[in-house]
Amino acid sequence: MEQFSVITEKKTVQNLLLKRIAAEAGCEVAVDTDENAVTVTGEDEDSRQRIIDAISKTIVEAYESKLILKLINQNYFYFNLPDRKSIFQKAVEYSESVGDSNSLVHGSVKKYLETTDKLMLDGFVNFRLKDYQSELGEVIDKAVEDFMIEKECKEFVKLLKYFVEVQKPKYDLVSIVPRGGTYLIFDDKGEDISKQCAREFIKDGGGISSDDLLISTLISIAPRRLCIHQAAKITNTELLRTIEQVFEKKITHCNGCDLCE
Ligand SMILES: [Zn+2]
Repeated sequence: MEQFSVITEKKTVQNLLLKRIAAEAGCEVAVDTDENAVTVTGEDEDSRQRIIDAISKTIVEAYESKLILKLINQNYFYFNLPDRKSIFQKAVEYSESVGDSNSLVHGSVKKYLETTDKLMLDGFVNFRLKDYQSELGEVIDKAVEDFMIEKECKEFVKLLKYFVEVQKPKYDLVSIVPRGGTYLIFDDKGEDISKQCAREFIKDGGGISSDDLLISTLISIAPRRLCIHQAAKITNTELLRTIEQVFEKKITHCNGCDLCE
């Protein structure tokens, strides 16, 4: 006979556990609940596995986000509250999508229950789940890294928008046509101004990629409206996104005109 007591006086955690046990082990086990514990009794090795499964899933469900929050406040206390909130949301998402929480917790619960049949939930989570906690730490590090990159991008876009705002527009409408890894730029009269624009930036001896050249050009000529032809041909999606974020409503798209050929 396999019998385990999970000790917790938290009603919400008890209820989660009961739900999990019902889902994982169903009628194979007997459950007894009192104020401080849930005691599960199963017949054989199979029900033992199911009980361990139910306990580890309950731990992830009941404690993961709290642990993430605790670790963020511990390791990244120097971020302000809204930033920590964004990092928290990211970390929770990551650990749900890529994390290996269940198997890590499962391994520890299994090992622990080889030596005892009582599991004090709070203590176990705080002191016996080092591998799990360090994995959550890595998930948080990754969330912080991505958060910083996004923040820098946002600030960069803000700066570019500012440049465009203070610039006197040289053209009402400019058309961008991707062509063979580079870009053709046409003014409102349909004149190809690519070379003329490029000259502005390459006079220092070149060394600028066509992607950088395009964004620099657009920022400096600051057109009132911008038509991007065959945007799908722009393989640098980050560049396209930056242009879209900087010029926003000034942009129209075209996929069928003479320039699109
Ligand atoms: Zn077109």
